[in-house]
Amino acid sequence: MSDVRVLTLWKDEKINEEEALLLRRLCEDIRVPFDEERKKEIRTLVDAFLSMDEAAGLAAPQIGISKKIIIFRNKGFNEKGWSKDESDYELLINPRITQARGEMVTMTEGCLSCPEIQVEVSRYPEIKIRAFDVSGRKINKRYTDYVARVAQHEIDHLEGKLIIDCEGTLYIPKQKQEFFERTFGKIKAVNGNGISRNI
Ligand SMILES: [Zn+2]
Repeated sequence: MSDVRVLTLWKDEKINEEEALLLRRLCEDIRVPFDEERKKEIRTLVDAFLSMDEAAGLAAPQIGISKKIIIFRNKGFNEKGWSKDESDYELLINPRITQARGEMVTMTEGCLSCPEIQVEVSRYPEIKIRAFDVSGRKINKRYTDYVARVAQHEIDHLEGKLIIDCEGTLYIPKQKQEFFERTFGKIKAVNGNGISRNI
């Protein structure tokens, strides 16, 4: 089990200024081969992710590590108790999108770092990524559909970009409408349906 906490932009009705700064930072590339400190950071992210049943993905800055490391499930998005076998998730270091194809698809997304809201986000349905694996080997990956969406969401985190920066409709819980309107200005839609998965 991991006792690492996921940083959030706000909690209840209070803005987390310090955590927001960490979430907004541009992450650094990791130098290859990885030194001991970096290996520890990679392990910390993997352990944190595997300790979560609800998350579809997690990026290092979400746990306060400003390095380009992301991890996400590659299947079983609707399962709560997924097997967490190594073949069930992707761990990418210094990921870079080398190709994006298809017409953008718009879908509602949630994020562990932006609790209680969902935003409609447009993403490419197919991407190719160049990255390093856990042993520092160069890898090329291709993802489609929902996995491609999750990968793009996690890569955005490495650039300090969050779903609230996207232009799409924002869904908030009605009981907190006042707080979110104070935070975001005019809200386009209330009553989050709570069905989108946190990534
Ligand atoms: Zn996220």
